[in-house]
Amino acid sequence: MDKPKIVILGAGYGGLITNKTLEKLLKSGEADVTLINKHEYHYLTTQLHKTGVGTATDRQIALSIPELINVNKTRFLKAAVSTVDIDNQEVHLEDGEMVKYDYLLIALGFEVETFGIPGIKEHAFEIRSFRSSKAIYHHIKKQFTLYKEDQNPSRLTFVVAGGGFTGIEMLGELADGLPKLCKEHDIPFEKVRIVAIEASPSVIPFFPKQCIEYTTEVLEKRHIELITSTKILECTPEKVVLENNINVPTQTLIWSCGVKGNTIVQKWGLPIEKGKIPVDSYLRVKNMKNVFSIGDCSLFMKDEQSSLPPTAQVALQQAPICAKNIVDSLRGESLMTFEYHHKGSVASLGLMAAVGKVGDFRLSGLFGAFMKQVIEARYLFNLGGPALIIKQHVGVSREPVKMTAKQ
Ligand code: FAD
Ligand code: NAD
Repeated sequence: MDKPKIVILGAGYGGLITNKTLEKLLKSGEADVTLINKHEYHYLTTQLHKTGVGTATDRQIALSIPELINVNKTRFLKAAVSTVDIDNQEVHLEDGEMVKYDYLLIALGFEVETFGIPGIKEHAFEIRSFRSSKAIYHHIKKQFTLYKEDQNPSRLTFVVAGGGFTGIEMLGELADGLPKLCKEHDIPFEKVRIVAIEASPSVIPFFPKQCIEYTTEVLEKRHIELITSTKILECTPEKVVLENNINVPTQTLIWSCGVKGNTIVQKWGLPIEKGKIPVDSYLRVKNMKNVFSIGDCSLFMKDEQSSLPPTAQVALQQAPICAKNIVDSLRGESLMTFEYHHKGSVASLGLMAAVGKVGDFRLSGLFGAFMKQVIEARYLFNLGGPALIIKQHVGVSREPVKMTAKQ
């Protein structure tokens, strides 16, 4: 009899940890597992702002997938998924290949939300993938080079849209990394402007007042201009247009105003709610027995009104339960319901500061920054044990990553 085929789409936080758990749970020969990802590497989305400013090497952020999995237990396909034929249980890839499945996990992550604001798709930069973040880094360097030729001050104005966690992490990283890039290009850092634009009255408006005050103080101390209570209305190649007739001349708008589920899944005839795939308490796609979905492309309702947020923390808690439920499904055993336990949130403000909240305990400053490093190291530990932590910190390759996939 043919072995059941388990196919995982996406090797981000959700897909990769599900795969690692399957490798542990499945008995030898019990099922064939195929992991499909657009790139040869798994990127640490939670640290992509570092790639955007060049404060981490490529291989600290983009880790080779074949080195993270057990290639004797998992078949890895570097390929972009184009469609899934649910009726015939087939995954179709952009290169024309077709992969059959008995059990499918869709973990294809997020896309950046632009709210249809004119010029954002065309001219703004996104912190979405390793590739899109690397594009920010190359663009910043190009602006420094061109500034030396034309002395156009808008080349040295770097605007970050959105003061949520992604926005403040990017601002902190720019404040850390731009002085070094200025030095390399022999440009005085005093000529650089870093501008943050947030529609709400403050950055991280959803966080406690003391955290907001601390973050504002840190960003202002680092000479970041904060424009709050102001929406971005348009972006052109030369400027950002704001409410109240304000224009900021710039060649660099980094857009971090929120995310939505990967829109590719909307074309496959699956149920879609709020742009995402709704799942039941077992992480199965609503009304389906053999298709699962986790992470940012899925919608898990924590109660009747609200869904879980698009965070790595959610994807990482879902992954082991999802793996167990896939195995239990193929064994005909009863499944486990998923329960989310929020452990807290910590956002970096550059290398030496962070802001966060764990339970009722507020984190800030160097201690916060240390805790952020601990959280990141804990993920590496789960992925590859102490050896991976050591490799990523002291033995990481300095070779640039070759990018072959389109996005
Ligand atoms: P992803 O990690 O996005 O993985 C999706 C995978 O699918 C990727 O490997 C992608 O290449 C692949 N893929 C996509 N389309 C295709 C296709 N068509 N074919 C094949 N492969 C495809 N959350 C936290 O909890 N804590 C944090 O500190 C934190 N920091 C963040 C910092 C930044 C700068 C950003 C942008 C986000 C941060 N988040 C954080 C949110 C977190 O990164 C996401 O919630 C998380 O990545 C979701 O995991 P996922 O597995 O659903 O998707
Ligand atoms: P977000 O939705 O949390 O924040 C977006 C911000 O952009 C909001 O403050 C919003 O008011 C602002 N905004 C929206 N439209 C605007 C406009 N036209 N002009 C100006 N401002 C505008 O999105 P995010 O920061 O990208 O985060 C996405 C997800 O990733 C969230 O779930 C977040 O918690 C998670 N994340 C977590 C961390 C962390 O835990 N360290 C870091 C980054 C992201």
